[in-house]
Amino acid sequence: WVMSSEQNSDSPAAGGDWVGGVNRIGWGAGFLIALYYVGFFSIVCVTLFGVTYVGVGREIRERELEIVRNRAAEYSAWFRSGHVEMLKERIGEQSLQPGDVMFVRVVGPGIDYINFNAPGGGSLPVDELRQISPTEETAEIEIGGERWAVASLPVGNRGVILQAGKNARASEEVLARLRRLFMLTLIPAGMLAMLGGAVLIYRAMAPIRRLTGTMRDILQAGDLGKRVEPQRGSNELNALVELFNRLLARNEALIDGMHNSLDSVAHDMRTPLSRLNNTAERALGEAGDPELMREALADCVEESENLGRLLTTLMDVAEAESGAMRLDLQPISLPALVESVAELYEFVAEEKSVRIVTELPDEMEVTADRTRLNQVLANLLDNAIKYSAAGSEVRIAVAGDDGGGAVITVSDQGVGISEADLPHIWDRLFRAERSRTAPGMGLGLSFVRAIVKAHGGSVACTSRLNGGSTFTVRLPPSGGLHS
Ligand code: ADP
Repeated sequence: WVMSSEQNSDSPAAGGDWVGGVNRIGWGAGFLIALYYVGFFSIVCVTLFGVTYVGVGREIRERELEIVRNRAAEYSAWFRSGHVEMLKERIGEQSLQPGDVMFVRVVGPGIDYINFNAPGGGSLPVDELRQISPTEETAEIEIGGERWAVASLPVGNRGVILQAGKNARASEEVLARLRRLFMLTLIPAGMLAMLGGAVLIYRAMAPIRRLTGTMRDILQAGDLGKRVEPQRGSNELNALVELFNRLLARNEALIDGMHNSLDSVAHDMRTPLSRLNNTAERALGEAGDPELMREALADCVEESENLGRLLTTLMDVAEAESGAMRLDLQPISLPALVESVAELYEFVAEEKSVRIVTELPDEMEVTADRTRLNQVLANLLDNAIKYSAAGSEVRIAVAGDDGGGAVITVSDQGVGISEADLPHIWDRLFRAERSRTAPGMGLGLSFVRAIVKAHGGSVACTSRLNGGSTFTVRLPPSGGLHS
């Protein structure tokens, strides 16, 4: 994660580019959800009302038809018993709603009698009524823009028909009132639903808004230390906030680590690079002597090889220290591993007349990265031999500790380390004054410590000047250290 200076987030213009187009995220989504919610709410309301309205309307019509059917039967009984005058009286007794009109008609050869009752002062469209076909059964008829329920019954066998009818003005009124009521409630209810939905969604979106706000701040101001303020409760959004904060913390640690290692790599490379440069320039100044130039070129090659090695080791150390080192953990037989490293250094030790002694248990298994653990042992053994005098002894021991972990000790009888230097031996590129004549880059021990730490273990050193040194590596039982 490298930012060039032009993209540096300190400049507001650049910050704007980083967050371009995401400024309204919380509201846009919330508004859309509220809209869907209100749409759904309205569909449900309209359906509910529609079903109720149709049902009520049908019921009212049925009732009206029923009424006229009953009336027609009643009137025809009166008529048949010869009380035609009674019809007028009977129809007058009918209790009706204001606006309702009820009529009775007797039609046949030589007769067309009509009488009606209209309590609200309604009128009877007599001329249109006389047009109604007398053969109609009970039916709804449209007269003068109004609905009428009319029931027809034959009376006698001389083709006389009795009709009873009633207009539907009062029931139409009821239905119209129902429609008005619905319209009056639907609009406020919809608005209320919209408002309620918007408030709820706005509140539910709060963690998202905090999340976007923090992201924007980070991108605009480059402040990696910012975190989203967590809220009480354990819903999904709070979990998201929590995880996002953890991600930020982890990123910050990694970026810090990388910044630090980049700084130190740059710092550490400067000296060897200038040495390389000096050698090359000196050779150019000595133009003419091929032998000297060849020597200088050889120096350059060696120096550049050193630089390459330094860079690789530095990157390894940086990787391990930043916690980004990936370990290929597997069960390893510790005695066998120590044995093989000791064998590898047998030749170097012999050259210096140093004896390697191992003290190993029959078997002890640890869970570790084989290559990395090999590097740890090799570095410690290499130092022990390097800083030992001829005829001395280097001892490697493996043992278990009380907690089920493993302890590896590498001790020598060599030059030792002064008390003043002891705390610094783990620092990158540190080399004690007296060791500068020995080959090395001062990176071995920092690498050892980083690897052991990556394994969750620890490493320590006890030493006395001219009294030898002991390095102790402890590997934890967790991850499956068995003895
Ligand atoms: P290098 O050995 O390449 O100098 P290290 O990081 O391995 O670098 O060691 C750092 C310093 O610690 C060495 O320069 C040396 O002064 C000291 N040191 C390490 N191991 C021993 C040892 N076994 N005996 C004495 N001094 C040691």
